[in-house]
Amino acid sequence: MKTMPELPEITVIAKQMNEEITGKRIAEIEARQPKNLNMPVSKFRKTIKGKTVKGVESRGKWLFLKLDQGYLLLINLGMGAELIYFNPTQKLPEKCQFKLTFFDKTGFTAHFWWFGYIHLVAEKDLPKHNMTAQLGKSPADKTFTLEYFKESLANRKTGIKSFLLDQKNVAGIGNVYVQDVLFKAKLHPNRKISTLTEKERTSLFKAIKDVLNQSIRLNGLAYEKDFYGQRGKFTGEHFLVGYKTGKSCPGCGTTIEKIRTGSTASYICPKCQSLE
Ligand SMILES: [Zn+2]
Repeated sequence: MKTMPELPEITVIAKQMNEEITGKRIAEIEARQPKNLNMPVSKFRKTIKGKTVKGVESRGKWLFLKLDQGYLLLINLGMGAELIYFNPTQKLPEKCQFKLTFFDKTGFTAHFWWFGYIHLVAEKDLPKHNMTAQLGKSPADKTFTLEYFKESLANRKTGIKSFLLDQKNVAGIGNVYVQDVLFKAKLHPNRKISTLTEKERTSLFKAIKDVLNQSIRLNGLAYEKDFYGQRGKFTGEHFLVGYKTGKSCPGCGTTIEKIRTGSTASYICPKCQSLE
């Protein structure tokens, strides 16, 4: 099964990073794939050296490492990556494109499957960092309330699935968790937002919170690794309809179908999630 990290996995990594590396001072970096960075390696190294991590948070699929002296290190794992902590006694992963070492000789490596971003940005320039400046609110954020969600749906004309996958609307949901979110809300992926009732909007909001929170509690997907290289406990068994083609709907027993919706695949119960 091909997955990529979404909100639950990034939330777990951010929490672990926050506990493990806050207060540590950066000694050195190695970047073997300079295009992951937003500036030449030499400038990146010169700017980041000596800065101390003040805390780590996540926003959607992005990790925000707050550094002192007014800087942020922004990391996006792209289509999948292993971002793994190390201490001096540990053997490092054989492959990695980026390595950051602290003065106490601990650090972390990043190995991207396809591509990822490691951007060093001055706090004052953050509004100009387009990839994160345009992000919508993350459902893990306390300010992602039912009122906020309903407001963001107002006057929108697209289908509900493409709305949810667009990181400018909701940050952190991808094609893995969206399947069960829509099933729980009993919505067909192609339902137009304009046709959703108030009740459906409320149950969609609840479904987003339920599905993502359940996975965060299980430390994310079993296909992805956390900061310590451990796999999550959200396995194939936890999906309701996602990746369950040919299995029975847990609600009504109808056979689950895989359909094409725009550029993505969707798994639905044709009865519970009818378009009519
Ligand atoms: Zn069903």
